[in-house]
Amino acid sequence: MTSAPLIDLIAGARPNFMKIAPIIDALQAARARGAAVRFRLVHTGQHYDRTMSGSFFEQLGLPDPDVNLEVGSGTAAEQTAAIMTRYEQVLLREKSALCVVVGDVTSTMACAITAQKLGVPVAHVEGGLRSGDWSMPEEINRLVTDAITNYFFTTTEGANAQLRSNGVGGERIFFVGNTMIDTLLKHRPRFQAPPVWTHAGLRPQGFLVLTLHRPANVDDEDRLRGLMAEVMRGACGRPVVFPVHPRTAKTLQRIGVTAPNLHLTEPLSYLEFNFLVERAQAVITDSGGVTEETTVLGVPCLTLRDTTERPETVALGTNELIGSDPVALHPYLEKLYAGGWKRGAIPPRWDGFAGERIVTHLLERLGVSSGSVESAP
Ligand code: UDP
Repeated sequence: MTSAPLIDLIAGARPNFMKIAPIIDALQAARARGAAVRFRLVHTGQHYDRTMSGSFFEQLGLPDPDVNLEVGSGTAAEQTAAIMTRYEQVLLREKSALCVVVGDVTSTMACAITAQKLGVPVAHVEGGLRSGDWSMPEEINRLVTDAITNYFFTTTEGANAQLRSNGVGGERIFFVGNTMIDTLLKHRPRFQAPPVWTHAGLRPQGFLVLTLHRPANVDDEDRLRGLMAEVMRGACGRPVVFPVHPRTAKTLQRIGVTAPNLHLTEPLSYLEFNFLVERAQAVITDSGGVTEETTVLGVPCLTLRDTTERPETVALGTNELIGSDPVALHPYLEKLYAGGWKRGAIPPRWDGFAGERIVTHLLERLGVSSGSVESAP
């Protein structure tokens, strides 16, 4: 008897969990309809504690990982090596029919290389994004992963065009939408207030949210001190809620920034973080995913970077690229406070059905019948 084909789903760091969850939902639904397919959730352990991993499993209803590679902290090369060595063992024990990687973290690249070298085809969810900035570790991960990806599941027309210009044939590109937005739309009714909402006496549209974790912004003390000074000056006394990424916490502890209206918290759970984002007057960030979520929630977003791999959040959405000089925040904040921020529109296919579309294509690739249900629009 031949067993049902096995799909590996790779997740390793915070922004992966919300991207993989809708694919798991859709695979579970397909299995419930009788589709003969198996999946194995592989957690690399790149992020491993409760605030950066555990809380997402609970809140998003993710099943326990089938495999945990437990690679833990280390330099990028140490983590890449550990993930590759350990995932190789997993594949040697049982080879999967397909390896699905999401986003642009070290785990994405490391597992794509390992799978492809053992002859396992790779599907990349969020393929085709490019910032053009090779100083960002994520850009290297995107370039390497896409160079060895068989099937691209894309979020935007820009990503499709990028892949085509790299010589990828249209038959390997599937414009499915955005699984991160599937998760946002599904869980929006369940967003919940974090303790800081009451402690800081926050009111809708009466505060700012700040997130920073890019090495270029947070590793250097002077750089982070300068950023914090301009953000606090630009807040003009409004409360600023800053859930601090572990990478940022190290530098922040050394420089010790305080202000009566600055509310530092641990990284927030997904439902708590997006409760604040939905009610914020604006979000100041260097995150990629947050620029997509603010676009869908219609919340003004100011991105402290020179480039973005998600230009649709600026061209269509509520995001503005401020650049790396934080002094440039001020004219944008003045515009915001004067009520002149653009309203933005939601990019095509960011409609909550990306996970279903992906699974329909995956089953087709594997020659598995998906059962007889209405397919996603
Ligand atoms: N996020 C969260 N809690 C926080 C900060 C972010 O749940 O305190 C979520 C956010 O809603 C988004 C994801 O984490 O879904 C973005 O991750 P991150 O900024 O670490 O990565 P990037 O998108 O820049 O790769």
